[in-house]
Amino acid sequence: MRREFLNRLGERWDVLVIGGGATGLGAALDAASRGYRTVLLEQSDFAKGTSSRSTKLIHGGVRYLRQGNLPLVRESLRERGILLRNAPHCVHPLAFVVPARNARELLYYSAGLKIYDLLAGGLGIAPSRILSRAEMPPLLSGRRGILYHDAQFDDARMAVTLMQNCARLGGVPLNYMRVTSFLKRGGRVRGAVAVDCETGREYTVEARAVINATGVFTDTVRRMDDQDCARMITPSQGAHLVLAKSVLPGETAIMIPRTDDGRVLFLIPWRSRVLLGTTDTPVSEALLEPRPMEAEMEYLLAQAARHIGVTIARGDILSVFAGQRPLVGAARRTAEIPRDHIVETSASGLVTVTGGKWTTYRKMAEDAVDRAAEVGGLEKRLSLTAEMPLRAVSGEDMARTVEDVLARRTGLLFLDARAAIEAAPGVARDLAQKLGRDAPWETEQVAAFRELARGYLFG
Ligand SMILES: Cc1cc2nc3c(=O)[nH]c(=O)nc-3n(C[C@H](O)[C@H](O)[C@H](O)COP(=O)(O)OP(=O)(O)OC[C@H]3O[C@@H](n4cnc5c(N)ncnc54)[C@H](O)[C@@H]3O)c2cc1C
Repeated sequence: MRREFLNRLGERWDVLVIGGGATGLGAALDAASRGYRTVLLEQSDFAKGTSSRSTKLIHGGVRYLRQGNLPLVRESLRERGILLRNAPHCVHPLAFVVPARNARELLYYSAGLKIYDLLAGGLGIAPSRILSRAEMPPLLSGRRGILYHDAQFDDARMAVTLMQNCARLGGVPLNYMRVTSFLKRGGRVRGAVAVDCETGREYTVEARAVINATGVFTDTVRRMDDQDCARMITPSQGAHLVLAKSVLPGETAIMIPRTDDGRVLFLIPWRSRVLLGTTDTPVSEALLEPRPMEAEMEYLLAQAARHIGVTIARGDILSVFAGQRPLVGAARRTAEIPRDHIVETSASGLVTVTGGKWTTYRKMAEDAVDRAAEVGGLEKRLSLTAEMPLRAVSGEDMARTVEDVLARRTGLLFLDARAAIEAAPGVARDLAQKLGRDAPWETEQVAAFRELARGYLFG
């Protein structure tokens, strides 16, 4: 499929999307489903960036409620409802308990979650309610708390599903293609030059509209268009620990609305594991492979012990990972920047879409494609994605490396880094056979994966 897609790059496209994370894949799927001739170029693997490193929640964002950002919560809850309906194979409801330290907190959180229920309207999952002591999960026994619902998904799997649905609808999504510059005619962006990262070959891709959906790399790509443009993104790092299931038996997640420094903490059952996160640390450099900092891991362990009363042994930590949020704007603390998205058109017509969160990727995509159609003078066609079921497509998954398979097609690197290291040689052998690669490629792949996976081991 890759070769066939590469051969088509010389065609004339309506929409070129740069970036294969949630936002870019969403935009490419939206554009392809409207019947626009669509191509997407991702410099690494689909969801290699932030989009495989999330807390795996499709949520309204209880903390934005606390910030009083009701329109953002309402929009996110609407998107949550749409995703539960359109992608039931990827997204499922998840029950959460919020423990309260006293009667005042119990009333306060209960009132807040009732507002959350109301904002969800007809798309609510189940009403929140105060639990009796007997109903509390074992980890919180003896305490009081409130039960509410949000949704959970597998981010990397969802990204591959978006890519496959885009291809099914005639789009051309390509990974390992880095955009290096823009094509301009009469001062207008009319496409891009991209390099195939596997062969080094350069391609020219002409399109009537170009969407920049590059997450924390948004400003780097904007500067390819306008060297002097003002910064739009503040990256903020969030880390997670992946723990053995025994840490949190059962299927109910725990949410701590306010840790010592005012952040939210989640302990969540996820696949056969438990996810503990997250942090919010401003960083100066946008990275594709950020590493959790020692201080972040210590913070998570200390806050889990203090607020949930759970002591996590070293052997319970199976993997650690970090991601960078593309937050729009600047604030004293990145936790205070609202997770709104923005669509900007540059003087030369480059459409940039950024900010937001996984939960709102569909709406971000719709807004970006509306703008791209205007800028590119395309026939006006309305977005169909709110009503369009996402099919579980069994087609080509476009995995090109051992890392693609172990990190984002199977998720083993995130579930158990040590097990992933052990699985690498077998995966390299199968992949070499499938892609027609030789023995040195296999050896190189295993070595590169082991080096990367060491960063996911705790300590
Ligand atoms: C720790 C953490 C937890 C989160 N938890 C949640 C959650 O539970 N729920 C939720 O809704 N949201 C969550 N989010 C937010 C959500 O993950 C992000 O908003 C979303 O993944 C951003 O997607 P994106 O496509 O904009 O960026 P990315 O996923 O980073 O995609 C951008 C892509 O652009 C590519 N690219 C860059 N430059 C080029 C170039 N020159 N040529 C080609 N490609 C290029 C990159 O390789 C990258 O793959 C979380 C974020 C973090 C960091």
